[in-house]
Amino acid sequence: MTTQASLPAQSLPAPAPAVNPETREFWDATAQDRLLLRRCRDCDAVIWYPRAICPECASLNTEWFPAAGRGRIYSYTVNHRGEGAYTGLPPFVLAYVELDEGPRLMTNIVGADNAELAVGLPVEVVFHDTGDGAALPRFQPMRD
Ligand SMILES: [Zn+2]
Repeated sequence: MTTQASLPAQSLPAPAPAVNPETREFWDATAQDRLLLRRCRDCDAVIWYPRAICPECASLNTEWFPAAGRGRIYSYTVNHRGEGAYTGLPPFVLAYVELDEGPRLMTNIVGADNAELAVGLPVEVVFHDTGDGAALPRFQPMRD
């Protein structure tokens, strides 16, 4: 069996995110290697994507809290035809990671041999600086 290693982390582009007033604190935290989530103080829902209003109960009584930065691969695919900043790249891994706190983030898996990828694989966050005051949260297999 042959294996194909994924791209080293630094060779994936890190385009700057679109930041708005509701996501400013989230992106500012990523620049400090911190992953923040929002939580509803009224119904305890963990809110993703970041926004001020709770999608479960419409409460505005929400707050930021630090996520552990750990989760599991919920679904993934090896993308051979990137678009935009990803055009022309060697194959890279696009995934949904389900965080320990519950939300599922669309992200990239980096630093992994594609042969080890599996649904349920434990992963941890790494941050890739966009050079624009933010960093993209991506995930690598948890090493112990
Ligand atoms: Zn709520």
